[in-house]
Amino acid sequence: MARVVIKFGGTSLGSIEKITNVASLIKKKKTNNDEIIVVVSAMAGQTNDLIEKSKKISKNYDKAELDVLLATGEQMSSSLLSAALIDQGCKSRSWLSWQIPIITEGPHNASRIYRSNTDEISKFLKSGGIPIIPGFQGVSNIFRLTTIGRGGSDASAVAIAKFFDADFCEIYTDVEGVYTTNPNMHSQAKKIDKISYEEILEMASLGTKIMQASAVQIAMLNNISIHVRSTFSEKEGTKILPDAKLDYEKSVTGISFSKNDAKVTLIGVKDRPGVAAKIFEPLGQNDINVDMVIQNISPDGKETDVTFTIKRDQLDQSIKLMNDIKTKINYKKLVYDDKVAKVSIIGAGMIVSPGITYKMFKSLADANINIIAISTSEIKISVLVNEEKTSEAIKILHKNFNLD
Ligand code: ASP
Ligand code: MG
Repeated sequence: MARVVIKFGGTSLGSIEKITNVASLIKKKKTNNDEIIVVVSAMAGQTNDLIEKSKKISKNYDKAELDVLLATGEQMSSSLLSAALIDQGCKSRSWLSWQIPIITEGPHNASRIYRSNTDEISKFLKSGGIPIIPGFQGVSNIFRLTTIGRGGSDASAVAIAKFFDADFCEIYTDVEGVYTTNPNMHSQAKKIDKISYEEILEMASLGTKIMQASAVQIAMLNNISIHVRSTFSEKEGTKILPDAKLDYEKSVTGISFSKNDAKVTLIGVKDRPGVAAKIFEPLGQNDINVDMVIQNISPDGKETDVTFTIKRDQLDQSIKLMNDIKTKINYKKLVYDDKVAKVSIIGAGMIVSPGITYKMFKSLADANINIIAISTSEIKISVLVNEEKTSEAIKILHKNFNLD
């Protein structure tokens, strides 16, 4: 007998018909002795609607009250799904977070789940029932409703899997799993069968939209296997597993990209100790996250150029900050470019296969794609290229790293 947590996203529950179908899917899964705990998100669009309503009341809607409002989205889908299961002859019941309770800490709208009672629901499971738990919501230690941030029901599901010691957690969504790259960008994209937590986290931070990073982090810390799959197909999806359960046949698992970067270059910066610190100090103080940094070697030991990349929406602010320190560090000129994109190859298999960096650079060179900046970690290599070259870079790398 296994115990599983299954979570349904908003698109899987987007209409009454879809909810009825999800109920049938759960009923079918429940044929053996397995214990199933269901976690739901709000019906598609519901949370956005509620936020719109709140804005009509006030631009500064009280944060605690906003949580009460937003929690209704998941309250509604929990009841609808539970009632649909009962209608199909199953034993089911919904619980709200405060009834369990699922305790959170931290501020309203951005709380974090840290504890859950399991007594009543465990009893219900033993009696053959299918409990429905609303994702996204919790209750604070002073019993006020809380929510855990947009898209948070993934994290709820994984946290529930942890507290209930489930064997694994299935995330049902509207795509068949995680792909080697964005299928809308490249028709050769393939579904990945198995992937590690680390790779998923890298992919998420490098621009691939899969599931919430905090959900993957909870899974990684607690060794919970995740299966991301489609509600609308019987096919197996992608399993997100601990490293040890994977064998890496390929050096590269997937290719991510983001088109929200910009680069700034300071030309003619004095080559002296302390100058780099002076450049990056104001950026740090203003919460601007610098991604890639390149400093040229100065041929004469006197001056050099420093290039760094940031998020595109922080470009204006970064330029202003650099103008502010112009007299302090005395550089000659500032140039910037916001038509750049970052393309990254990710793969835990890289660690054991030498020559990946060369292969990536050579592939891009052969395609006549200029590399503007580079950054690497143990399991990823990112390059900055002209934005218009993004799709071409993805195609060539996808092919050369045997992902087609
Ligand atoms: N309903 C919430 C949202 O839309 C939580 C979720 O869907 O995961 O952000
Ligand atoms: Mg959602």
